[in-house]
Amino acid sequence: MRRQRTLAEPVSCSGVGLHSGGPAALTLRPARPDTGIVFECPDGAVLPARAASVVSTRLATTLGVGAARVGTVEHVLAALWGLGVDNARIVVDGPEVPAMDGSAAAFVYLVRVAGLVEQSPAVRVMRVRKPIAVTDGARRIRVDPAPELRVTYRIDFAHPSIGRQAFECTGDDPVRFERELAGARTFGFLREVQALRGVGRARGGSMSNTLVLDDSGIVNSGGLRYPDEFVRHKVLDLFGDLSLLGARLQGHVVVERGGHSLHVALVRALLEMSHPLRAADAPARAEVPPRLSPPPAS
Ligand SMILES: [Zn+2]
Repeated sequence: MRRQRTLAEPVSCSGVGLHSGGPAALTLRPARPDTGIVFECPDGAVLPARAASVVSTRLATTLGVGAARVGTVEHVLAALWGLGVDNARIVVDGPEVPAMDGSAAAFVYLVRVAGLVEQSPAVRVMRVRKPIAVTDGARRIRVDPAPELRVTYRIDFAHPSIGRQAFECTGDDPVRFERELAGARTFGFLREVQALRGVGRARGGSMSNTLVLDDSGIVNSGGLRYPDEFVRHKVLDLFGDLSLLGARLQGHVVVERGGHSLHVALVRALLEMSHPLRAADAPARAEVPPRLSPPPAS
């Protein structure tokens, strides 16, 4: 079993918030063993990157406590998960993590620049001993016992540039994470982006941080980074959301048409399974409460 890791030194970046459109900056700082990942807000609030802190999964994952909010946390969390950073303090200067290029690439670069140091305690692992599944209509997520973390992710969008895509990978290989997943960008449909702007969201969204699709294809002139960039981005989002477990996961996660709500619902179900009393204290605040169900026979 590997030991916990943190950053060797602080590193910073700045950009714009995807939804607020305002300037946004963060600094990744080293943290003591067993801290986990925590966000530190300008008002001094400390938000653990844990499922109990999730206040919204609409469009992005938002953490909150009291009046403090940090939105769009999933890509920086995915970078830390993918590179095996267990303890870090993420100091933000406002209500949203900078969007950077819509992927985790900039955060991976920051972690590489900072370097990692090993800490004495062993990393925490949640081992899945029996299958668990969450469904929400045609959206499904399940996790089966397996000797290591594996992900099988399938999406199905009725759009000529997406259609059905599937991606399979391990969750504990930083080199493959950096090469195959970190650069996959957020995507959005032009009509939805326009509707979101009408209600004051996606204000910082642009073709420099989002893959934009109109009815016939991809609007960005540079095209795709991977032929299946859309499903790869979903896997990236999943890793960011799995980090809300507060432990590494050992199991095979299989997702059909997933998204943040479903990912976080699985994390909550796993926590409830491992600590029924502690999870019962945590508020269940997913906006679309998915149903827990026995996994389908297979
Ligand atoms: Zn994302």
